[in-house]
Amino acid sequence: MSTTEPSIFTRIVSREIPASIVAETDRLIAFHDIAPKAPVHVLVVPKTPEYTNVADLAVGDPALLAELVTLAQQIANEHGGQFRLIFNTGEKAGQTVFHVHAHILIGDLGEDPRADFQ
Ligand code: 5GP
Repeated sequence: MSTTEPSIFTRIVSREIPASIVAETDRLIAFHDIAPKAPVHVLVVPKTPEYTNVADLAVGDPALLAELVTLAQQIANEHGGQFRLIFNTGEKAGQTVFHVHAHILIGDLGEDPRADFQ
């Protein structure tokens, strides 16, 4: 995909592509991952396409990063309140969509899924 094309997440934000949306604010959208790696696997995504990864977001708009984490907690609260938050950062770390997003994983996560989570 060229960098001028909208990301898959921008296309979800614009409702061009359907998704199972669980929460939305002025600046964020949250929806179920299409290939869940946990009993509950939700992605939280800033609507702006400006930030590629969490480090860029932390520098460019730390308040939006804080909003994202707060929304993740609110979503997790509907499932007992405990959750794992993952930001794959870079291709070698498993990032496939270069529009910053957090994975919220909730439920039985097995012994230690961190090593093979992609
Ligand atoms: P990454 O690998 O970049 O950390 O995470 C991208 C995530 O987006 C993957 O877990 C993948 O399953 C999810 N994903 C990719 N395309 C779609 C889609 O069209 N809809 C939804 N709901 N999730 C998607």
